[in-house]
Amino acid sequence: MSAPGEKGGAVRYALLSDIHSNLEALEAVLEDIAGQAVDELLCLGDLVGYGADPNECVRRIRGLTSHVVIGNHDSAVVGLTDVSNFNAHARRAVAWTAEIIEPEQARYLSRRPFTDRIDDGLLVHATPSEPAAWHYLLSTQAARSEFPSFSESICFIGHSHQPVFFSSDGAPHSRKTDRLSCDPGLRYIVNVGSIGQPRDGDPRSCYAIYDADSRTVQLRRVAYDIKSAQRKILKAGLPPVLAARLSRGE
Ligand code: ZN
Repeated sequence: MSAPGEKGGAVRYALLSDIHSNLEALEAVLEDIAGQAVDELLCLGDLVGYGADPNECVRRIRGLTSHVVIGNHDSAVVGLTDVSNFNAHARRAVAWTAEIIEPEQARYLSRRPFTDRIDDGLLVHATPSEPAAWHYLLSTQAARSEFPSFSESICFIGHSHQPVFFSSDGAPHSRKTDRLSCDPGLRYIVNVGSIGQPRDGDPRSCYAIYDADSRTVQLRRVAYDIKSAQRKILKAGLPPVLAARLSRGE
């Protein structure tokens, strides 16, 4: 990564979301980012939960960026979100993580904001209209009602682990598209996918690069050592299904 400001302000951003304590996936993505002339890294939350390396993932992200918003799993691990809406496996992972998270990393997570801003972009884990309600934004119709709740031209989200582009004209966008060229007359909501637990049938990590100059977003997929991440999950005594789902991308 070149230092921010070298080109008169950061223009190429890497957007990372839903790392979920998967250090193997995070390291593979960071290696990919190193070759992408990225100026600044942004994190859309859920650094922890599900995987076996929560402390390492939080420390790694802390060292790379000051733009980190809170996710529902981060919030649950530090006792700020009730886990009654989580499924049993997610609850088990939250409890396990809460036990082994270092006080310093817990304090850091508990102080992350719900939203952050870069240039003309908004960053939020779940939805811009109610960032603390942890709604899932999955349909074009649901996206349409989100646009009035923010003023920026583009909003980056995570949470569903399913990369997708929504535009303010309500046009359906194929989930198979990996590149968006922003129309100056439109606004966008972009789900950048998940680093640590992709759920769109492709087990490779997913992240996005936003070039603020050319106003393009590119989704990138990165293969990582899934077997190693799975071994750690099993060794930690976390639910085996959390290991199995990684190889299926679900
Ligand atoms: Zn998540």
